[in-house]
Amino acid sequence: MSDTNETTKPRHFIQQYIDADIAAGKNEGKVVTRFPPEPNGYLHIGHAKSICLNFGIAEEFNGSCNLRFDDTNPSKEKEEFVAAIEQDVQWLEFDWQDRLYYASDYFEQLHDFAVELINAGKAYVCDLNAEQVRAYRGTLQEPGKNSPHRDRSVEENLELFAKMRSGDFADGERVLRAKIDMASPNMNMRDPTLYRIRHGVIHHQTGEEWCIYPMYDYTHPISDAIEGITHSLCTLEFEDHRPLYDWVLDNISIGCHPQQIEFSRLNLQYTIVSKRKLTQLVEDNHVSGWDDPRMPTLAGLRRRGFTPASIRDFCDRIGVTKSDNSIEMGVLENCIREDLNEIAPRRMAVLNPVKVVIENYPEDKVEQLDAPNHPQKEELGTRQIPFSREVFIDRDDFREEANKKYKRLVLGKEVRLRNAYVIKAEDVIKDDSGEIIEIRCSYDTETLNKNPADGRKVKGVIHWVSAAHAVEAEVRLYDRLFNQPNPESAAKEGKEFTDYINENSLETLSKCYLETNLQDVDAGERFQFEREGYFCRDTDNSANGKPVFNRTVTLRDTWAKIEAAG
Ligand code: ATP
Ligand code: MG
Repeated sequence: MSDTNETTKPRHFIQQYIDADIAAGKNEGKVVTRFPPEPNGYLHIGHAKSICLNFGIAEEFNGSCNLRFDDTNPSKEKEEFVAAIEQDVQWLEFDWQDRLYYASDYFEQLHDFAVELINAGKAYVCDLNAEQVRAYRGTLQEPGKNSPHRDRSVEENLELFAKMRSGDFADGERVLRAKIDMASPNMNMRDPTLYRIRHGVIHHQTGEEWCIYPMYDYTHPISDAIEGITHSLCTLEFEDHRPLYDWVLDNISIGCHPQQIEFSRLNLQYTIVSKRKLTQLVEDNHVSGWDDPRMPTLAGLRRRGFTPASIRDFCDRIGVTKSDNSIEMGVLENCIREDLNEIAPRRMAVLNPVKVVIENYPEDKVEQLDAPNHPQKEELGTRQIPFSREVFIDRDDFREEANKKYKRLVLGKEVRLRNAYVIKAEDVIKDDSGEIIEIRCSYDTETLNKNPADGRKVKGVIHWVSAAHAVEAEVRLYDRLFNQPNPESAAKEGKEFTDYINENSLETLSKCYLETNLQDVDAGERFQFEREGYFCRDTDNSANGKPVFNRTVTLRDTWAKIEAAG
Protein backbone atom coordinates (compact mmCIF):
# COMPACT_ATOMS: atom_id res chain seq x y z
CA MET A 1 0.00 0.00 0.00
CA SER A 2 2.93 2.31 0.66
CA ASP A 3 3.65 4.49 -2.34
CA THR A 4 7.36 4.70 -1.70
CA ASN A 5 10.01 2.59 -3.18
CA GLU A 6 11.19 0.43 -0.29
CA THR A 7 14.46 -0.35 -1.97
CA THR A 8 15.67 3.25 -2.10
CA LYS A 9 14.35 4.59 1.18
CA PRO A 10 16.69 4.07 4.14
CA ARG A 11 15.26 1.61 6.62
CA HIS A 12 14.25 3.13 9.93
CA PHE A 13 15.46 1.77 13.25
CA ILE A 14 12.40 -0.41 13.87
CA GLN A 15 12.68 -2.05 10.48
CA GLN A 16 16.37 -2.65 11.17
CA TYR A 17 15.55 -4.12 14.56
CA ILE A 18 13.08 -6.55 13.03
CA ASP A 19 15.48 -7.38 10.19
CA ALA A 20 17.98 -8.44 12.85
CA ASP A 21 15.36 -10.50 14.73
CA ILE A 22 14.45 -12.30 11.54
CA ALA A 23 18.09 -12.91 10.66
CA ALA A 24 18.56 -14.37 14.14
CA GLY A 25 15.54 -16.63 13.67
CA LYS A 26 13.60 -15.03 16.54
CA ASN A 27 9.85 -15.80 16.76
CA GLU A 28 10.32 -18.28 13.90
CA GLY A 29 10.53 -15.30 11.61
CA LYS A 30 7.00 -14.17 12.43
CA VAL A 31 6.01 -10.53 12.88
CA VAL A 32 2.82 -9.66 14.76
CA THR A 33 2.01 -6.09 15.78
CA ARG A 34 -1.03 -4.33 17.18
CA PHE A 35 -2.58 -0.90 17.27
CA PRO A 36 -3.92 -0.42 20.83
CA PRO A 37 -6.08 2.71 21.18
CA GLU A 38 -8.02 3.52 24.29
CA PRO A 39 -11.63 4.25 23.23
CA ASN A 40 -11.77 7.52 25.16
CA GLY A 41 -11.81 9.86 22.17
CA TYR A 42 -11.45 10.02 18.42
CA LEU A 43 -8.21 9.19 16.67
CA HIS A 44 -5.97 12.05 15.60
CA ILE A 45 -3.16 12.48 13.11
CA GLY A 46 -0.66 11.23 15.72
CA HIS A 47 -2.53 7.95 15.91
CA ALA A 48 -2.29 7.73 12.13
CA LYS A 49 1.48 7.57 12.53
CA SER A 50 1.11 4.62 14.88
CA ILE A 51 -1.48 2.92 12.65
CA CYS A 52 0.67 3.29 9.53
CA LEU A 53 3.69 2.02 11.43
CA ASN A 54 2.00 -1.01 13.01
CA PHE A 55 -0.03 -2.09 9.99
CA GLY A 56 2.79 -1.10 7.64
CA ILE A 57 5.38 -3.22 9.48
CA ALA A 58 3.00 -6.19 9.50
CA GLU A 59 2.40 -5.82 5.78
CA GLU A 60 6.05 -5.40 4.95
CA PHE A 61 7.12 -8.49 6.91
CA ASN A 62 4.19 -10.64 5.81
CA GLY A 63 2.86 -10.62 9.31
CA SER A 64 -0.35 -9.42 10.84
CA CYS A 65 -1.56 -6.48 12.90
CA ASN A 66 -4.37 -6.61 15.46
CA LEU A 67 -6.70 -3.83 16.43
CA ARG A 68 -7.02 -3.93 20.19
CA PHE A 69 -9.08 -1.61 22.34
CA ASP A 70 -7.21 -0.89 25.51
CA ASP A 71 -10.36 -0.51 27.57
CA THR A 72 -9.37 -0.64 31.22
CA ASN A 73 -10.71 2.75 32.28
CA PRO A 74 -14.47 2.50 31.77
CA SER A 75 -15.37 5.91 33.20
CA LYS A 76 -13.86 7.66 30.17
CA GLU A 77 -14.60 5.14 27.46
CA LYS A 78 -17.63 4.85 25.21
CA GLU A 79 -19.05 2.67 22.47
CA GLU A 80 -19.23 5.82 20.29
CA PHE A 81 -15.43 6.01 20.39
CA VAL A 82 -15.05 2.30 19.63
CA ALA A 83 -17.16 2.71 16.48
CA ALA A 84 -15.35 5.89 15.43
CA ILE A 85 -11.93 4.29 15.84
CA GLU A 86 -12.93 1.27 13.73
CA GLN A 87 -14.25 3.59 11.03
CA ASP A 88 -11.06 5.65 11.01
CA VAL A 89 -8.70 2.67 10.74
CA GLN A 90 -10.81 1.31 7.89
CA TRP A 91 -10.84 4.69 6.23
CA LEU A 92 -7.03 4.66 6.24
CA GLU A 93 -7.47 1.38 4.31
CA PHE A 94 -5.91 -0.92 6.86
CA ASP A 95 -7.52 -4.25 7.61
CA TRP A 96 -7.38 -6.10 10.92
CA GLN A 97 -9.47 -8.89 9.30
CA ASP A 98 -10.85 -11.02 12.14
CA ARG A 99 -8.35 -9.76 14.69
CA LEU A 100 -10.40 -7.24 16.63
CA TYR A 101 -9.76 -7.54 20.35
CA TYR A 102 -10.50 -5.81 23.61
CA ALA A 103 -8.24 -5.84 26.64
CA SER A 104 -11.51 -6.51 28.48
CA ASP A 105 -11.69 -9.85 26.64
CA TYR A 106 -8.81 -10.82 28.93
CA PHE A 107 -10.20 -9.64 32.27
CA GLU A 108 -10.60 -13.19 33.55
CA GLN A 109 -7.08 -14.18 32.49
CA LEU A 110 -5.64 -10.96 33.88
CA HIS A 111 -7.34 -11.71 37.16
CA ASP A 112 -5.93 -15.25 37.19
CA PHE A 113 -2.42 -13.98 36.53
CA ALA A 114 -2.84 -11.57 39.43
CA VAL A 115 -3.74 -14.53 41.65
CA GLU A 116 -0.64 -16.27 40.34
CA LEU A 117 1.50 -13.29 41.34
CA ILE A 118 -0.08 -13.26 44.80
CA ASN A 119 0.62 -16.98 45.20
CA ALA A 120 4.23 -16.40 44.25
CA GLY A 121 4.53 -13.64 46.86
CA LYS A 122 4.93 -11.05 44.10
CA ALA A 123 1.76 -9.05 44.64
CA TYR A 124 -0.09 -7.84 47.72
CA VAL A 125 -3.22 -6.02 48.71
CA CYS A 126 -2.44 -2.61 50.15
CA ASP A 127 -4.78 -0.55 52.35
CA LEU A 128 -2.99 2.77 51.98
CA ASN A 129 -5.10 5.47 50.41
CA ALA A 130 -3.96 7.31 47.30
CA GLU A 131 -2.35 10.11 49.28
CA GLN A 132 -0.43 7.71 51.51
CA VAL A 133 0.70 5.67 48.52
CA ARG A 134 2.11 8.83 47.03
CA ALA A 135 3.89 9.77 50.27
CA TYR A 136 5.40 6.30 50.60
CA ARG A 137 6.61 6.29 47.01
CA GLY A 138 9.47 8.70 47.65
CA THR A 139 10.96 10.99 45.03
CA LEU A 140 13.50 10.81 42.25
CA GLN A 141 16.12 11.76 44.83
CA GLU A 142 14.87 9.60 47.68
CA PRO A 143 13.89 5.95 47.86
CA GLY A 144 10.36 5.06 48.86
CA LYS A 145 9.22 3.27 52.02
CA ASN A 146 7.68 -0.15 52.13
CA SER A 147 3.95 -0.24 52.68
CA PRO A 148 3.01 -1.64 56.11
CA HIS A 149 0.88 -4.20 54.20
CA ARG A 150 3.72 -5.43 52.02
CA ASP A 151 4.41 -8.54 54.04
CA ARG A 152 0.89 -9.89 54.31
CA SER A 153 0.64 -13.65 53.97
CA VAL A 154 -0.35 -15.18 50.67
CA GLU A 155 -3.58 -16.46 52.25
CA GLU A 156 -4.56 -13.04 53.54
CA ASN A 157 -3.77 -11.44 50.16
CA LEU A 158 -5.82 -14.04 48.31
CA GLU A 159 -8.75 -13.48 50.61
CA LEU A 160 -8.55 -9.68 50.39
CA PHE A 161 -8.18 -9.74 46.59
CA ALA A 162 -11.22 -12.02 46.35
CA LYS A 163 -13.13 -9.52 48.49
CA MET A 164 -12.00 -6.67 46.26
CA ARG A 165 -13.44 -8.56 43.34
CA SER A 166 -16.70 -9.41 45.05
CA GLY A 167 -17.34 -5.80 45.94
CA ASP A 168 -16.69 -5.82 49.69
CA PHE A 169 -14.61 -2.64 49.59
CA ALA A 170 -15.32 0.88 48.46
CA ASP A 171 -13.44 2.68 45.70
CA GLY A 172 -9.93 3.51 46.85
CA GLU A 173 -10.13 1.40 49.99
CA ARG A 174 -7.71 -1.26 48.73
CA VAL A 175 -5.47 -1.78 45.70
CA LEU A 176 -3.46 -4.73 44.50
CA ARG A 177 0.21 -3.87 44.06
CA ALA A 178 3.20 -5.62 42.57
CA LYS A 179 5.95 -6.36 45.08
CA ILE A 180 9.05 -5.15 43.26
CA ASP A 181 11.39 -2.59 44.80
CA MET A 182 10.50 0.58 46.71
CA ALA A 183 14.08 1.80 46.31
CA SER A 184 14.25 1.38 42.55
CA PRO A 185 15.61 4.44 40.74
CA ASN A 186 12.74 3.86 38.29
CA MET A 187 9.58 5.13 39.98
CA ASN A 188 7.45 2.79 37.88
CA MET A 189 9.06 -0.14 39.70
CA ARG A 190 8.19 1.06 43.20
CA ASP A 191 5.42 -1.45 43.84
CA PRO A 192 3.09 -0.18 41.10
CA THR A 193 -0.66 -0.62 41.39
CA LEU A 194 -2.01 -3.56 39.38
CA TYR A 195 -5.70 -3.37 40.24
CA ARG A 196 -8.03 -0.68 41.53
CA ILE A 197 -11.67 -0.70 42.62
CA ARG A 198 -14.31 1.12 40.55
CA HIS A 199 -17.95 0.81 41.54
CA GLY A 200 -20.91 2.23 39.74
CA VAL A 201 -19.46 2.43 36.24
CA ILE A 202 -20.88 0.42 33.42
CA HIS A 203 -18.13 -0.87 31.18
CA HIS A 204 -19.06 -0.63 27.49
CA GLN A 205 -18.06 -4.28 26.95
CA THR A 206 -18.35 -6.05 30.30
CA GLY A 207 -21.21 -4.08 31.83
CA GLU A 208 -21.30 -4.50 35.60
CA GLU A 209 -19.46 -7.78 35.71
CA TRP A 210 -16.38 -6.29 37.31
CA CYS A 211 -15.76 -3.76 40.04
CA ILE A 212 -11.97 -4.13 39.91
CA TYR A 213 -10.07 -2.94 36.88
CA PRO A 214 -6.48 -3.74 35.90
CA MET A 215 -4.02 -0.90 35.31
CA TYR A 216 -2.65 -0.16 31.85
CA ASP A 217 0.94 -1.15 32.71
CA TYR A 218 -0.23 -4.55 33.90
CA THR A 219 -2.80 -5.13 31.18
CA HIS A 220 -0.75 -4.14 28.19
CA PRO A 221 2.11 -6.69 28.34
CA ILE A 222 -0.28 -9.52 29.13
CA SER A 223 -2.66 -8.58 26.31
CA ASP A 224 0.31 -8.42 23.95
CA ALA A 225 1.54 -11.83 25.10
CA ILE A 226 -1.91 -13.46 24.88
CA GLU A 227 -2.16 -12.30 21.28
CA GLY A 228 1.33 -13.49 20.41
CA ILE A 229 2.57 -10.00 19.54
CA THR A 230 6.23 -10.10 18.56
CA HIS A 231 7.01 -6.38 18.50
CA SER A 232 5.05 -4.03 20.74
CA LEU A 233 5.58 -0.58 19.23
CA CYS A 234 4.73 2.38 21.41
CA THR A 235 5.65 6.00 21.94
CA LEU A 236 8.67 7.23 23.87
CA GLU A 237 6.86 8.10 27.08
CA PHE A 238 6.61 4.36 27.72
CA GLU A 239 10.38 3.85 27.66
CA ASP A 240 10.53 4.10 31.47
CA HIS A 241 7.69 1.60 31.70
CA ARG A 242 9.54 -1.06 29.73
CA PRO A 243 11.20 -2.59 32.85
CA LEU A 244 7.70 -3.06 34.29
CA TYR A 245 6.42 -4.50 31.00
CA ASP A 246 9.23 -7.02 31.15
CA TRP A 247 8.81 -7.67 34.90
CA VAL A 248 5.14 -8.60 34.47
CA LEU A 249 5.89 -11.09 31.70
CA ASP A 250 8.93 -12.51 33.49
CA ASN A 251 6.90 -13.28 36.60
CA ILE A 252 3.83 -15.04 35.25
CA SER A 253 3.48 -18.34 33.42
CA ILE A 254 2.88 -17.06 29.94
CA GLY A 255 4.88 -18.49 27.09
CA CYS A 256 5.40 -15.32 25.11
CA HIS A 257 7.48 -12.21 25.69
CA PRO A 258 7.02 -9.50 23.08
CA GLN A 259 9.72 -6.88 22.59
CA GLN A 260 8.60 -3.34 23.41
CA ILE A 261 10.18 -0.75 21.10
CA GLU A 262 9.59 2.97 21.53
CA PHE A 263 9.46 5.67 18.85
CA SER A 264 8.81 9.41 19.03
CA ARG A 265 5.31 10.83 18.97
CA LEU A 266 4.15 12.99 16.13
CA ASN A 267 3.66 16.63 17.04
CA LEU A 268 2.18 18.93 14.47
CA GLN A 269 2.58 22.69 14.63
CA TYR A 270 -0.40 25.00 15.17
CA THR A 271 -2.53 22.16 16.46
CA ILE A 272 -2.63 19.68 19.32
CA VAL A 273 -2.48 15.90 19.37
CA SER A 274 -3.66 15.03 22.82
CA LYS A 275 -7.00 13.33 23.26
CA ARG A 276 -7.50 15.01 26.60
CA LYS A 277 -7.10 18.48 25.09
CA LEU A 278 -9.11 17.62 21.99
CA THR A 279 -11.88 16.43 24.30
CA GLN A 280 -11.77 19.81 26.00
CA LEU A 281 -12.11 21.61 22.65
CA VAL A 282 -15.20 19.53 21.89
CA GLU A 283 -16.80 19.68 25.33
CA ASP A 284 -16.26 23.42 25.73
CA ASN A 285 -17.63 24.05 22.22
CA HIS A 286 -14.51 25.64 20.82
CA VAL A 287 -15.24 23.49 17.76
CA SER A 288 -18.46 21.98 16.43
CA GLY A 289 -17.49 18.40 17.29
CA TRP A 290 -14.82 15.73 16.91
CA ASP A 291 -15.26 15.95 13.14
CA ASP A 292 -15.04 19.71 12.90
CA PRO A 293 -12.92 20.23 9.75
CA ARG A 294 -10.41 22.26 11.77
CA MET A 295 -9.68 19.37 14.12
CA PRO A 296 -6.54 17.23 13.63
CA THR A 297 -8.71 14.17 14.15
CA LEU A 298 -9.01 11.69 11.31
CA ALA A 299 -12.76 12.39 11.30
CA GLY A 300 -12.05 16.12 10.98
CA LEU A 301 -9.43 15.68 8.28
CA ARG A 302 -11.76 13.37 6.35
CA ARG A 303 -14.58 15.90 6.50
CA ARG A 304 -12.14 18.63 5.49
CA GLY A 305 -11.41 16.65 2.32
CA PHE A 306 -8.15 14.85 3.09
CA THR A 307 -7.71 11.54 1.31
CA PRO A 308 -6.49 8.42 3.13
CA ALA A 309 -3.60 8.24 0.65
CA SER A 310 -2.46 11.74 1.60
CA ILE A 311 -2.38 10.84 5.30
CA ARG A 312 -0.43 7.66 4.63
CA ASP A 313 1.96 9.60 2.43
CA PHE A 314 2.43 12.12 5.24
CA CYS A 315 3.20 9.38 7.77
CA ASP A 316 5.67 7.94 5.34
CA ARG A 317 7.42 11.27 4.79
CA ILE A 318 7.82 12.16 8.46
CA GLY A 319 9.53 8.85 9.13
CA VAL A 320 10.08 6.95 12.35
CA THR A 321 12.79 7.99 14.80
CA LYS A 322 13.51 8.23 18.49
CA SER A 323 13.90 11.99 18.64
CA ASP A 324 11.04 14.29 19.48
CA ASN A 325 10.17 16.76 16.81
CA SER A 326 7.42 19.03 15.67
CA ILE A 327 6.33 18.84 12.06
CA GLU A 328 5.27 21.89 10.09
CA MET A 329 1.66 21.98 8.98
CA GLY A 330 2.93 22.72 5.48
CA VAL A 331 4.21 19.14 5.21
CA LEU A 332 0.71 17.75 5.73
CA GLU A 333 -0.81 20.36 3.43
CA ASN A 334 1.65 19.50 0.69
CA CYS A 335 0.67 15.85 0.85
CA ILE A 336 -3.00 16.57 0.25
CA ARG A 337 -2.23 19.24 -2.35
CA GLU A 338 -0.11 16.84 -4.36
CA ASP A 339 -2.69 14.08 -4.17
CA LEU A 340 -5.61 16.31 -5.12
CA ASN A 341 -3.67 17.94 -7.92
CA GLU A 342 -3.61 14.51 -9.54
CA ILE A 343 -7.12 13.31 -8.87
CA ALA A 344 -9.47 16.25 -8.27
CA PRO A 345 -11.67 17.31 -11.20
CA ARG A 346 -11.53 21.03 -11.96
CA ARG A 347 -14.58 23.22 -11.54
CA MET A 348 -15.32 26.93 -11.48
CA ALA A 349 -16.68 28.58 -8.37
CA VAL A 350 -17.02 32.27 -7.62
CA LEU A 351 -16.58 32.83 -3.92
CA ASN A 352 -16.97 36.59 -3.74
CA PRO A 353 -19.28 37.34 -6.65
CA VAL A 354 -19.92 40.47 -8.66
CA LYS A 355 -22.18 40.45 -11.71
CA VAL A 356 -20.91 40.96 -15.24
CA VAL A 357 -23.38 41.82 -18.00
CA ILE A 358 -22.15 41.14 -21.52
CA GLU A 359 -24.07 43.79 -23.41
CA ASN A 360 -23.59 42.45 -26.93
CA TYR A 361 -24.52 38.87 -26.03
CA PRO A 362 -28.16 38.01 -26.94
CA GLU A 363 -30.56 38.04 -23.96
CA ASP A 364 -32.03 34.59 -24.38
CA LYS A 365 -29.05 32.77 -25.73
CA VAL A 366 -27.39 29.96 -23.78
CA GLU A 367 -24.38 28.11 -25.13
CA GLN A 368 -23.07 24.85 -23.72
CA LEU A 369 -19.31 25.08 -23.71
CA ASP A 370 -16.91 22.19 -23.35
CA ALA A 371 -14.49 22.35 -20.46
CA PRO A 372 -11.78 19.82 -19.60
CA ASN A 373 -12.00 18.28 -16.12
CA HIS A 374 -8.25 18.28 -15.72
CA PRO A 375 -5.65 20.32 -17.61
CA GLN A 376 -3.19 17.42 -17.95
CA LYS A 377 -5.41 14.35 -17.74
CA GLU A 378 -7.52 13.83 -20.80
CA GLU A 379 -8.82 10.58 -19.32
CA LEU A 380 -10.79 12.62 -16.78
CA GLY A 381 -12.92 13.84 -19.67
CA THR A 382 -14.82 17.06 -20.18
CA ARG A 383 -18.03 18.61 -18.94
CA GLN A 384 -20.45 21.09 -20.42
CA ILE A 385 -20.89 24.46 -18.81
CA PRO A 386 -23.58 26.98 -19.76
CA PHE A 387 -22.61 30.46 -20.93
CA SER A 388 -25.06 33.35 -21.05
CA ARG A 389 -25.33 37.12 -21.08
CA GLU A 390 -24.90 37.49 -17.32
CA VAL A 391 -22.08 35.85 -15.44
CA PHE A 392 -20.49 36.18 -12.02
CA ILE A 393 -16.80 36.76 -11.54
CA ASP A 394 -14.86 37.28 -8.32
CA ARG A 395 -14.66 40.85 -7.01
CA ASP A 396 -10.91 40.44 -6.66
CA ASP A 397 -10.68 39.80 -10.38
CA PHE A 398 -11.77 43.30 -11.33
CA ARG A 399 -10.21 46.71 -10.83
CA GLU A 400 -11.16 50.04 -12.25
CA GLU A 401 -7.46 50.85 -12.50
CA ALA A 402 -4.38 48.71 -12.08
CA ASN A 403 -0.78 48.45 -13.11
CA LYS A 404 0.62 45.86 -15.52
CA LYS A 405 1.21 43.24 -12.83
CA TYR A 406 -2.52 42.84 -12.39
CA LYS A 407 -3.46 40.28 -15.02
CA ARG A 408 -7.20 40.23 -14.53
CA LEU A 409 -10.08 42.40 -15.69
CA VAL A 410 -9.50 46.17 -15.68
CA LEU A 411 -11.87 48.86 -16.91
CA GLY A 412 -11.25 49.42 -20.61
CA LYS A 413 -9.16 46.26 -20.94
CA GLU A 414 -9.64 42.62 -21.88
CA VAL A 415 -9.47 39.36 -20.04
CA ARG A 416 -10.30 35.80 -21.02
CA LEU A 417 -13.09 33.95 -19.27
CA ARG A 418 -11.73 30.44 -18.67
CA ASN A 419 -13.05 27.96 -21.27
CA ALA A 420 -15.05 30.76 -22.93
CA TYR A 421 -14.65 34.17 -24.58
CA VAL A 422 -12.50 37.24 -24.22
CA ILE A 423 -14.46 40.08 -22.65
CA LYS A 424 -13.70 43.76 -22.30
CA ALA A 425 -14.85 45.90 -19.37
CA GLU A 426 -16.72 48.93 -20.69
CA ASP A 427 -18.36 50.45 -17.63
CA VAL A 428 -19.22 49.90 -13.99
CA ILE A 429 -22.44 50.50 -12.08
CA LYS A 430 -22.15 51.36 -8.40
CA ASP A 431 -24.63 51.64 -5.57
CA ASP A 432 -25.02 54.71 -3.35
CA SER A 433 -22.14 53.61 -1.13
CA GLY A 434 -19.83 53.39 -4.10
CA GLU A 435 -19.69 49.62 -4.18
CA ILE A 436 -19.59 48.09 -7.64
CA ILE A 437 -22.76 46.12 -8.28
CA GLU A 438 -22.34 45.39 -11.95
CA ILE A 439 -19.60 45.43 -14.55
CA ARG A 440 -20.78 46.10 -18.11
CA CYS A 441 -18.72 44.29 -20.70
CA SER A 442 -18.60 43.38 -24.35
CA TYR A 443 -17.36 40.12 -25.79
CA ASP A 444 -15.69 39.04 -28.98
CA THR A 445 -17.46 36.15 -30.73
CA GLU A 446 -14.25 35.11 -32.45
CA THR A 447 -12.40 34.24 -29.28
CA LEU A 448 -14.22 31.15 -28.03
CA ASN A 449 -11.72 28.98 -26.27
CA LYS A 450 -8.87 30.02 -28.46
CA ASN A 451 -5.41 29.91 -27.10
CA PRO A 452 -4.22 33.32 -25.96
CA ALA A 453 -1.45 32.78 -28.49
CA ASP A 454 -4.01 33.40 -31.23
CA GLY A 455 -2.50 36.81 -31.73
CA ARG A 456 -4.47 38.67 -29.11
CA LYS A 457 -2.52 40.07 -26.24
CA VAL A 458 -4.83 38.87 -23.48
CA LYS A 459 -2.69 37.90 -20.52
CA GLY A 460 -5.24 37.14 -17.88
CA VAL A 461 -7.64 34.24 -17.56
CA ILE A 462 -10.28 34.36 -14.86
CA HIS A 463 -13.01 32.00 -13.73
CA TRP A 464 -16.73 32.70 -13.89
CA VAL A 465 -20.16 31.08 -13.73
CA SER A 466 -23.34 31.79 -15.65
CA ALA A 467 -25.66 33.79 -13.38
CA ALA A 468 -28.85 32.11 -14.52
CA HIS A 469 -27.42 28.63 -14.02
CA ALA A 470 -25.22 29.05 -10.97
CA VAL A 471 -25.76 27.07 -7.80
CA GLU A 472 -25.80 29.18 -4.69
CA ALA A 473 -23.62 27.63 -2.01
CA GLU A 474 -21.99 28.19 1.33
CA VAL A 475 -18.23 27.87 1.34
CA ARG A 476 -16.19 27.50 4.51
CA LEU A 477 -12.57 28.57 4.59
CA TYR A 478 -10.37 27.27 7.38
CA ASP A 479 -7.22 28.55 8.94
CA ARG A 480 -5.05 27.07 11.66
CA LEU A 481 -6.84 26.22 14.87
CA PHE A 482 -4.16 27.90 17.00
CA ASN A 483 -2.10 30.98 16.35
CA GLN A 484 0.92 29.56 18.17
CA PRO A 485 3.11 26.81 16.69
CA ASN A 486 3.21 24.90 19.95
CA PRO A 487 0.05 25.55 21.98
CA GLU A 488 0.87 22.58 24.22
CA SER A 489 3.77 24.47 25.75
CA ALA A 490 1.28 27.08 27.02
CA ALA A 491 1.59 25.85 30.58
CA LYS A 492 5.25 26.87 30.64
CA GLU A 493 4.17 30.45 30.08
CA GLY A 494 1.49 30.22 32.73
CA LYS A 495 -1.29 30.08 30.16
CA GLU A 496 -3.91 27.66 28.98
CA PHE A 497 -3.56 26.10 25.54
CA THR A 498 -7.04 27.48 24.82
CA ASP A 499 -5.60 31.00 25.16
CA TYR A 500 -3.95 30.40 21.81
CA ILE A 501 -7.07 29.44 19.87
CA ASN A 502 -7.23 31.31 16.58
CA GLU A 503 -10.55 33.14 16.68
CA ASN A 504 -10.49 33.49 12.89
CA SER A 505 -10.00 29.86 12.03
CA LEU A 506 -13.35 29.65 10.26
CA GLU A 507 -14.59 32.06 7.62
CA THR A 508 -18.03 31.37 6.20
CA LEU A 509 -18.90 32.71 2.75
CA SER A 510 -22.64 32.32 2.55
CA LYS A 511 -23.31 33.52 -0.98
CA CYS A 512 -20.99 31.82 -3.42
CA TYR A 513 -21.87 30.76 -6.95
CA LEU A 514 -20.80 27.41 -8.33
CA GLU A 515 -21.03 25.62 -11.62
CA THR A 516 -24.41 23.97 -12.12
CA ASN A 517 -23.05 20.44 -11.90
CA LEU A 518 -21.91 20.98 -8.29
CA GLN A 519 -25.52 20.94 -7.10
CA ASP A 520 -25.85 17.22 -6.62
CA VAL A 521 -22.41 15.93 -5.74
CA ASP A 522 -22.09 13.61 -2.77
CA ALA A 523 -20.70 14.63 0.58
CA GLY A 524 -16.97 13.92 0.51
CA GLU A 525 -16.51 14.56 -3.22
CA ARG A 526 -13.43 16.65 -3.89
CA PHE A 527 -12.71 19.26 -6.55
CA GLN A 528 -10.27 21.91 -7.47
CA PHE A 529 -12.10 25.20 -7.74
CA GLU A 530 -9.89 26.80 -10.34
CA ARG A 531 -7.59 29.47 -8.97
CA GLU A 532 -9.16 29.07 -5.49
CA GLY A 533 -8.00 25.81 -3.99
CA TYR A 534 -9.23 22.31 -3.29
CA PHE A 535 -12.73 21.90 -1.92
CA CYS A 536 -14.92 19.10 -0.70
CA ARG A 537 -18.67 18.80 -0.30
CA ASP A 538 -19.53 18.83 3.39
CA THR A 539 -21.90 16.50 5.21
CA ASP A 540 -23.76 19.48 6.65
CA ASN A 541 -27.10 20.14 4.96
CA SER A 542 -28.28 22.83 7.31
CA ALA A 543 -27.40 25.87 5.19
CA ASN A 544 -30.97 26.58 4.01
CA GLY A 545 -30.82 23.92 1.36
CA LYS A 546 -27.60 25.30 -0.07
CA PRO A 547 -24.77 22.85 -0.55
CA VAL A 548 -21.81 23.47 1.76
CA PHE A 549 -18.24 23.13 0.58
CA ASN A 550 -15.12 23.05 2.74
CA ARG A 551 -11.83 24.36 1.54
CA THR A 552 -9.45 21.48 2.08
CA VAL A 553 -6.32 23.41 1.23
CA THR A 554 -5.23 26.40 -0.80
CA LEU A 555 -3.45 25.95 -4.13
CA ARG A 556 -0.15 27.14 -2.75
CA ASP A 557 1.38 27.22 0.67
CA THR A 558 -0.97 29.39 2.70
CA TRP A 559 1.79 31.42 4.18
CA ALA A 560 3.62 31.99 0.96
CA LYS A 561 2.70 35.08 -1.01
CA ILE A 562 -0.30 34.18 -3.12
CA GLU A 563 -0.09 36.43 -6.13
CA ALA A 564 1.36 39.82 -6.80
CA ALA A 565 -1.47 42.25 -7.34
CA GLY A 566 -0.81 45.74 -8.63
P1 ATP B 1 -3.34 10.91 23.56
O1 ATP B 1 -2.10 11.45 24.17
O2 ATP B 1 -3.79 11.62 22.35
O3 ATP B 1 -4.46 10.68 24.52
P2 ATP B 1 -2.75 8.19 23.84
O4 ATP B 1 -1.38 7.67 23.73
O5 ATP B 1 -3.27 8.30 25.19
O6 ATP B 1 -2.89 9.51 23.02
P3 ATP B 1 -3.94 5.82 22.90
O7 ATP B 1 -5.34 5.58 22.52
O8 ATP B 1 -3.40 5.15 24.10
O9 ATP B 1 -3.80 7.36 23.03
O10 ATP B 1 -2.97 5.59 21.68
C1 ATP B 1 -2.96 4.42 20.90
C2 ATP B 1 -1.62 4.30 20.25
O11 ATP B 1 -1.34 5.44 19.45
C3 ATP B 1 -0.52 4.19 21.29
O12 ATP B 1 0.34 3.15 20.92
C4 ATP B 1 0.14 5.52 21.23
O13 ATP B 1 1.49 5.43 21.59
C5 ATP B 1 -0.07 5.96 19.79
N1 ATP B 1 -0.06 7.40 19.69
C6 ATP B 1 -0.84 8.28 20.35
N2 ATP B 1 -0.52 9.54 20.06
C7 ATP B 1 0.50 9.48 19.17
C8 ATP B 1 1.29 10.45 18.48
N3 ATP B 1 1.09 11.76 18.64
N4 ATP B 1 2.24 10.02 17.63
C9 ATP B 1 2.45 8.71 17.44
N5 ATP B 1 1.76 7.75 18.06
C10 ATP B 1 0.78 8.11 18.92
MG1 MG C 1 -2.42 6.10 25.99
